[in-house]
Amino acid sequence: LNSGEYSDLREKLSAPIRNARNIVIHQSLSDQFLEAFREQVGLNPVYILPPEHADLEPCIGCMQSTANIKLQKLCDEPNTGDCIQCYCRPMWCLECMSKWFASRQNQNEPQTWLSSKSPCPTCRSKFCILDVCRVNR
Ligand SMILES: [Zn+2]
Ligand SMILES: [Zn+2]
Ligand SMILES: [Zn+2]
Repeated sequence: LNSGEYSDLREKLSAPIRNARNIVIHQSLSDQFLEAFREQVGLNPVYILPPEHADLEPCIGCMQSTANIKLQKLCDEPNTGDCIQCYCRPMWCLECMSKWFASRQNQNEPQTWLSSKSPCPTCRSKFCILDVCRVNR
Protein backbone atom coordinates (compact mmCIF):
# COMPACT_ATOMS: atom_id res chain seq x y z
CA LEU A 1 0.00 0.00 0.00
CA ASN A 2 1.23 3.51 -0.73
CA SER A 3 0.36 6.18 1.79
CA GLY A 4 -2.45 7.60 -0.34
CA GLU A 5 -4.17 4.25 -0.49
CA TYR A 6 -3.61 3.74 3.21
CA SER A 7 -5.35 6.93 4.30
CA ASP A 8 -8.14 6.10 1.91
CA LEU A 9 -8.51 2.71 3.52
CA ARG A 10 -8.33 4.16 7.00
CA GLU A 11 -11.14 6.55 6.16
CA LYS A 12 -13.26 3.69 4.93
CA LEU A 13 -12.56 1.65 8.04
CA SER A 14 -12.94 4.30 10.69
CA ALA A 15 -16.67 4.80 10.06
CA PRO A 16 -17.68 1.18 10.73
CA ILE A 17 -15.36 1.03 13.75
CA ARG A 18 -16.98 4.11 15.25
CA ASN A 19 -20.44 2.71 14.54
CA ALA A 20 -19.65 -0.59 16.16
CA ARG A 21 -18.53 1.21 19.30
CA ASN A 22 -21.79 3.18 19.50
CA ILE A 23 -23.82 0.03 19.11
CA VAL A 24 -21.91 -1.67 21.94
CA ILE A 25 -22.51 1.30 24.24
CA HIS A 26 -26.21 1.36 23.40
CA GLN A 27 -26.57 -2.35 23.93
CA SER A 28 -25.05 -2.29 27.38
CA LEU A 29 -27.13 0.75 28.32
CA SER A 30 -30.30 -1.02 27.27
CA ASP A 31 -29.19 -4.13 29.18
CA GLN A 32 -28.60 -2.06 32.29
CA PHE A 33 -31.94 -0.41 31.86
CA LEU A 34 -33.64 -3.79 31.40
CA GLU A 35 -32.29 -4.85 34.80
CA ALA A 36 -33.65 -1.74 36.52
CA PHE A 37 -36.92 -2.02 34.61
CA ARG A 38 -37.35 -5.67 35.58
CA GLU A 39 -36.63 -4.86 39.21
CA GLN A 40 -39.22 -2.09 39.37
CA VAL A 41 -41.86 -4.09 37.53
CA GLY A 42 -41.24 -6.91 40.01
CA LEU A 43 -42.34 -4.54 42.78
CA ASN A 44 -45.49 -3.42 40.96
CA PRO A 45 -48.85 -5.15 41.49
CA VAL A 46 -49.53 -8.18 39.29
CA TYR A 47 -52.35 -8.04 36.77
CA ILE A 48 -54.60 -11.09 37.05
CA LEU A 49 -55.89 -12.09 33.66
CA PRO A 50 -59.72 -12.30 33.66
CA PRO A 51 -60.84 -15.96 33.41
CA GLU A 52 -62.69 -15.34 30.13
CA HIS A 53 -59.49 -14.08 28.53
CA ALA A 54 -57.99 -16.48 26.03
CA ASP A 55 -54.45 -17.73 26.50
CA LEU A 56 -51.63 -15.24 26.40
CA GLU A 57 -50.39 -14.53 22.90
CA PRO A 58 -46.82 -14.35 21.67
CA CYS A 59 -45.27 -10.91 22.12
CA ILE A 60 -45.77 -8.85 18.95
CA GLY A 61 -42.34 -7.30 19.41
CA CYS A 62 -40.17 -10.43 19.34
CA MET A 63 -42.70 -13.19 18.45
CA GLN A 64 -40.75 -15.45 20.82
CA SER A 65 -41.66 -14.69 24.41
CA THR A 66 -45.20 -14.76 25.73
CA ALA A 67 -46.87 -11.37 26.02
CA ASN A 68 -46.74 -10.93 29.79
CA ILE A 69 -47.10 -7.20 30.40
CA LYS A 70 -50.26 -5.18 30.98
CA LEU A 71 -50.24 -1.41 31.36
CA GLN A 72 -52.53 -0.16 34.11
CA LYS A 73 -52.58 3.36 35.42
CA LEU A 74 -51.61 2.77 39.03
CA CYS A 75 -49.26 5.68 39.69
CA ASP A 76 -52.04 8.09 40.60
CA GLU A 77 -55.80 8.65 40.72
CA PRO A 78 -57.49 7.96 37.34
CA ASN A 79 -57.81 11.63 36.41
CA THR A 80 -54.63 12.93 37.99
CA GLY A 81 -51.25 13.30 36.33
CA ASP A 82 -50.08 12.66 32.76
CA CYS A 83 -50.58 8.92 32.56
CA ILE A 84 -53.65 7.57 30.82
CA GLN A 85 -55.28 4.17 31.36
CA CYS A 86 -54.39 1.83 28.51
CA TYR A 87 -57.05 -0.67 27.45
CA CYS A 88 -54.85 -2.84 25.27
CA ARG A 89 -54.76 -6.54 26.02
CA PRO A 90 -51.32 -7.91 26.94
CA MET A 91 -49.33 -7.85 23.71
CA TRP A 92 -45.72 -7.31 24.77
CA CYS A 93 -43.15 -9.13 26.84
CA LEU A 94 -41.20 -7.41 29.58
CA GLU A 95 -38.00 -7.24 27.57
CA CYS A 96 -39.60 -5.66 24.51
CA MET A 97 -41.52 -3.20 26.70
CA SER A 98 -38.27 -2.22 28.37
CA LYS A 99 -36.58 -1.68 25.01
CA TRP A 100 -39.52 0.28 23.73
CA PHE A 101 -39.58 2.44 26.87
CA ALA A 102 -35.83 3.10 26.60
CA SER A 103 -36.12 3.96 22.91
CA ARG A 104 -38.61 6.74 23.72
CA GLN A 105 -36.26 8.45 26.18
CA ASN A 106 -33.58 11.07 25.80
CA GLN A 107 -30.60 8.92 24.84
CA ASN A 108 -28.18 11.40 26.42
CA GLU A 109 -29.81 11.32 29.87
CA PRO A 110 -30.26 7.68 30.89
CA GLN A 111 -30.41 8.71 34.55
CA THR A 112 -33.85 10.22 33.86
CA TRP A 113 -35.31 7.17 32.14
CA LEU A 114 -36.81 5.42 35.16
CA SER A 115 -38.72 8.54 36.17
CA SER A 116 -39.88 9.34 32.63
CA LYS A 117 -42.93 8.33 30.64
CA SER A 118 -43.52 6.62 27.33
CA PRO A 119 -46.54 6.16 25.07
CA CYS A 120 -48.05 2.66 24.92
CA PRO A 121 -46.58 1.09 21.75
CA THR A 122 -50.09 0.19 20.58
CA CYS A 123 -52.58 2.88 21.67
CA ARG A 124 -50.12 5.68 22.56
CA SER A 125 -51.58 6.22 26.05
CA LYS A 126 -48.85 7.62 28.25
CA PHE A 127 -47.52 5.38 30.99
CA CYS A 128 -44.74 5.41 33.55
CA ILE A 129 -42.78 2.51 34.98
CA LEU A 130 -45.15 2.25 37.98
CA ASP A 131 -47.93 1.34 35.55
CA VAL A 132 -46.16 -1.68 34.06
CA CYS A 133 -47.63 -4.91 35.47
CA ARG A 134 -46.70 -8.54 34.98
CA VAL A 135 -49.59 -10.72 33.91
CA ASN A 136 -50.67 -13.79 35.84
CA ARG A 137 -53.57 -16.14 35.50
ZN1 LIG B 1 -41.04 -9.50 23.21
ZN1 LIG C 1 -52.30 0.74 25.10
ZN1 LIG D 1 -48.08 6.43 35.47
